[in-house]
Amino acid sequence: MNEKLLGNGRGLQAGIGLMALMLIILIVFTTHSRIAADRIEALDISVAASSNVASIVAANLGEVLGRTAIYARLSTTFLEQAHDAQAIGNPLAIGDAAFLRMAIFDAEGKLAHSSSRRQVEPDLQLFARTVLFSETSPALVIGGIDTGINTHDPQTGWRIPVAVPLISGQRRIGAFAGYIDLGYLLALYKEASLGTRSRIEIIDSRGHQLAEMVDGTMSAGRDLERTGYASFTGGTQLSGTIDARRPGDSGASIGVYRRLDHFPLLVTVTRSRAAVLDELAPRDVKYLIRATLISLLILLASAGLIVLAQRQRRLYAGLTDSEARNLALINQLETEKVRAYQLASLDFLTDIPNRMKFYELAAIELSRARRSRRLTAVFFLDLDKFKVINDTYGHGVGDLLLQQVASRLRLSLRGHDLAARLGGDEFAVLVSDLDSDEAVAIVARKLVASLSEPYPDLDGHDLDITPSIGVALYPGDGEEIDTLLSRADRAMYLAKQGGRGCFRFYEASLNTTSARSAELVSRFARAIRDGEFCLHYQQRVSCTDFRPVGLEALVRWQHPEHGMIFPGEFITLAEEHDCIVALGNHVIDMACAQVANWQVLGLTVLPVAINISARQLRDETLPDIMTACLKKYAIPASLIEIEVTESCFIEQPELAEKVLRALDELGMRISLDDYGTGFSGLSHLKRLPISTVKIDRSFIRDIRNDNSDAVIVSSTISLSHNLGLKVVAEGVETRDQVVHLKTAGCDELQGYYFHRPAAAADITALLRHPSAYAA
Ligand code: C2E
Ligand code: CA
Ligand code: CA
Repeated sequence: MNEKLLGNGRGLQAGIGLMALMLIILIVFTTHSRIAADRIEALDISVAASSNVASIVAANLGEVLGRTAIYARLSTTFLEQAHDAQAIGNPLAIGDAAFLRMAIFDAEGKLAHSSSRRQVEPDLQLFARTVLFSETSPALVIGGIDTGINTHDPQTGWRIPVAVPLISGQRRIGAFAGYIDLGYLLALYKEASLGTRSRIEIIDSRGHQLAEMVDGTMSAGRDLERTGYASFTGGTQLSGTIDARRPGDSGASIGVYRRLDHFPLLVTVTRSRAAVLDELAPRDVKYLIRATLISLLILLASAGLIVLAQRQRRLYAGLTDSEARNLALINQLETEKVRAYQLASLDFLTDIPNRMKFYELAAIELSRARRSRRLTAVFFLDLDKFKVINDTYGHGVGDLLLQQVASRLRLSLRGHDLAARLGGDEFAVLVSDLDSDEAVAIVARKLVASLSEPYPDLDGHDLDITPSIGVALYPGDGEEIDTLLSRADRAMYLAKQGGRGCFRFYEASLNTTSARSAELVSRFARAIRDGEFCLHYQQRVSCTDFRPVGLEALVRWQHPEHGMIFPGEFITLAEEHDCIVALGNHVIDMACAQVANWQVLGLTVLPVAINISARQLRDETLPDIMTACLKKYAIPASLIEIEVTESCFIEQPELAEKVLRALDELGMRISLDDYGTGFSGLSHLKRLPISTVKIDRSFIRDIRNDNSDAVIVSSTISLSHNLGLKVVAEGVETRDQVVHLKTAGCDELQGYYFHRPAAAADITALLRHPSAYAA
């Protein structure tokens, strides 16, 4: 672009130069044509002026010559009559300045009269005789240069002899002769404004110059015909222009010639061409100076314009240059920005998108999915036991493994599916356009299978690893990528607890148990090992005197970060994630240890009831564990009670029953906990080795307000008594409830009204001074 611009700039400069040149040529041309026109005009004017003067001179000369006829008549009369000289006019006497002298000759040629009163007139006589005695006798003979009788005489001027024969009847009686003073005649035109180097000539028909006046100076006598200059004398043309070089002149003369009407004479009026033109010289110089000045001005202006254009061009070029540099800089910045963004959006280790990029791309994908009726699945992947690999083989191998996982992910997916590393050993995958849950499951299985393949030769190590995958579906499990990802995360924990190397769909029930639950689950084993669990004990009192008759062990989690956590939050979790058996056994151990501890202290120990989960009851080793524990702490089975719920007998009831019997056989009292919340009737439990029924606290809570609850409680009490079962009411919080239950015949009571669950130390104090704690 710059090049083109510079080219354009040069074109502009050339244009300006060309225009200037053309203008100068135009000026030169017009100046020259102006000068030429002026010259032509000046010459024309000069010719016209010459023509005027020539006409006047010719007319004047003609008139002077014409006067000879008058003098001839007078002379005839003189000869015929009295020869009275006085009688006829003396031309001098009558003041004819054009005639210098006049003489009359008789028939013999003798002088009859002279105006100068001379006795002889030899010159005129000679001339008169040419008229008198010539065969052909013209009316008027005008003396020529070749007659030899007119000589230059500055005193008398330019004289031309003229002679006229005098005729009387048919006879020649004499002749009239005289000198005409052409000097006098021409002197009249001395002042005629013809300008310098002008010339008036009188020439006879043979080309002999009779007289000439050049710038007021007279001369005569040149034979112009012979020089060829006066070639026009031979013609018949009355007048014409002259433009020729006179012999002896350096340049041409221009002017006119004029023939006299009745006499064989011509008048020429000419002027040196150079003189005419010389007069124009100052004007021409003025023109030339003006043209030069204008040309210079034009040159200056165009030079200025060119310089300006150049500067402008350079300025522009500079501008475009800097603009181009700016543009390049901007482009560079842009590419660097893009690169930086790419770097920031790609995972440095695996080169697949990172968490940030995943969120961005997934959000786009989801907005697209909104217009589709098909499913989009978000997979949350976590490598099982990756930490162990990192710890065992080092981070280098761990990194290689992560790279392999990333590339396998890419290979297992379609081109437009999205895979990203979220951090650590966590990956996310988004697959759109699926038509059913089954299709999602196929993808998940494929991912599990692909990632579970052996990883050979990772820096010399052959590794095996499995992924746990959680799946959340759009739109069912959420519409935002945040929600979907966190739900897939939770489902992933389920998969981990489900035995790893598998996948789980997100279920709505997981929703309440947040990430904290997942964290708790992952911590169980360690929490048991680290002794984060402890037991609180709640007393059960007799309904007759409200004295403590037993304790219930209630597990608490002293979490190092979350503080004390109640079993409502983690028992179900432990049950769901297969931790309950371990936890249950740990509780048994702690309870037995505590009982032993109290025994060692020499206190009267109340029986301690332990809550047993359904899963524990399906553990055939439970009786053995119990036995071992009793033995370990050297305590009697009568000091340990068991609490089970109806739900224990839903799955594999025979097994649960068998275990329960074994416990019963050990000599333990068995209670049916949370009675009323299940579906089995009391009669249905007849065959179970149960000694006590604990009515669920939900029935107790509204015992005073809800009649049906009161009915259930009373009928439960009487029915239980009929079956030989003891009845305990849970969750007793008010005096009213106590009254009601006592009236209804309840055996034992448990609840905040009497005692809140308390730490072992508090119970120790109670056992030491039972009376102090009596209600
Ligand atoms: P549960 O067996 O019904 O235990 C009694 C629950 O009622 C205890 O809650 C206790 O603190 C609470 N409670 C006692 N008196 C009152 C009262 O007057 N009002 C109210 N509102 N509540 C009262 P906790 O300790 O939170 O235990 C909750 C449940 O967790 C227990 O219900 C039991 O099912 C389970 N659990 C506790 N410890 C263990 C254990 O070691 N193993 C197993 N498998 N489950 C346990
Ligand atoms: Ca219980
Ligand atoms: Ca209960």
